[in-house]
Amino acid sequence: MNIHEFQAKQLFAQFGVPVPNGKEIKTPLAAEKWAEKLNAPVYVVKAQIHAGGRGKAGGVKITKNRAEVPGLARELLGKTLVTHQTGPKGRKVRRLLIEEGAGIAKELYLSLLVDRDSGWPLFIASTEGGMEIEEIAAHQPEKVLREPIDPAVGFQGYNGRNLAFGLGLPGLEPTIMGPFITMLGNLYRLFMEKHASMVEINPLVITTDKRLVALDGKVSFDDNALFKHADVQAMRDLHEEEPLEIEATTNNLNYVKLDGNIGCMVNGAGLAMATMDVIKLAGSEPANFLDVGGGATKETVAAGFRILLKDRNVKGIFINIFGGIVRCERIAHGVIDAAKEVDIKLPVVVRLQGTNAEEGRKLLLESGLKVDVATDLWEAAQKIVALTGKKRKKAAAA
Ligand code: GDP
Ligand code: MN
Repeated sequence: MNIHEFQAKQLFAQFGVPVPNGKEIKTPLAAEKWAEKLNAPVYVVKAQIHAGGRGKAGGVKITKNRAEVPGLARELLGKTLVTHQTGPKGRKVRRLLIEEGAGIAKELYLSLLVDRDSGWPLFIASTEGGMEIEEIAAHQPEKVLREPIDPAVGFQGYNGRNLAFGLGLPGLEPTIMGPFITMLGNLYRLFMEKHASMVEINPLVITTDKRLVALDGKVSFDDNALFKHADVQAMRDLHEEEPLEIEATTNNLNYVKLDGNIGCMVNGAGLAMATMDVIKLAGSEPANFLDVGGGATKETVAAGFRILLKDRNVKGIFINIFGGIVRCERIAHGVIDAAKEVDIKLPVVVRLQGTNAEEGRKLLLESGLKVDVATDLWEAAQKIVALTGKKRKKAAAA
């Protein structure tokens, strides 16, 4: 799960990571009142969307004139911001962060994430703040510092000194050394206690008056640990998520929307991947990844059906179930029940294999539903593609 910058900064403040004085704002009037209260030499008005690259896309406005703040707020609120991270559709701005501007002497990059190779938390830092880390890594790999943290002992002073010296802080601003190392420890605490999967501060700045401040903030959380953190769950912003994906999580389904036109319902992530491959091989494109899980029930299948049918791109449905833990006749019941609830006008191909497959196929054939029943994966894929038409080129361009 991701959160907004203003929420990340609230967490930073809670854990002693220095942030500018700022507030979440939803209306121009609230912007005016807050600016008056803030009474700062410089104001920064920042669009809050779950995507970076806002600066270059006009989503970050800076002014010294307090009277301009409500106008800037009006300009950004309701606007659809297109950044290189939003995709061409962009994201609608519903909230702002308005904060006191900082005079920047130096921009640094800092992040903390779980390193996939070692499984350890890993700090990544660079003197080239403000730029994207992928870009720095591609063009100036020597400027990317890595400091792994042994989770058995936690963050230690030497980890902090490694990073501070690596960044050349003693030459840049020696008084910042202490606060920097303290901040790293606090960030590590936040990361572990809140079960974050990634924390990124870009830029982390040294101000002209020699303070260390997180000017931007991004935090992602491990969804599997969210149940432990009611405060983090409360930060979820459903506007930033795909509606069908929200419905899927509510029903404990793993669903990712894609651009093709064959809706897939599969049990098990591996089989779901194979199903997507075989659809492509047969000349079409999947509309989604949907794993109803190894222990799929009648209810999950019905929920999956409803989600697939809500996607307007879906022109046909391919159900591919291997009965291991799940029994095929239960899936068949799920399909039949769901078909009673919603009017299915689309072609449906069901491939059942494994435990009680024969019984499942029989139930479907005798149900009176207009479904094609198959046992072989390749045959089934070709069937659904034939029924929906080869849309590969068109779907890929859409
Ligand atoms: P992003 O583009 O979505 O990553 O948004 P950021 O929060 O990183 O802001 C983009 C850029 O705006 C930063 O890299 C800074 O250069 C600039 N910026 C943001 N806040 C301030 C501020 O308080 N003072 C100054 N001078 N620049 C700022
Ligand atoms: Mn940034």
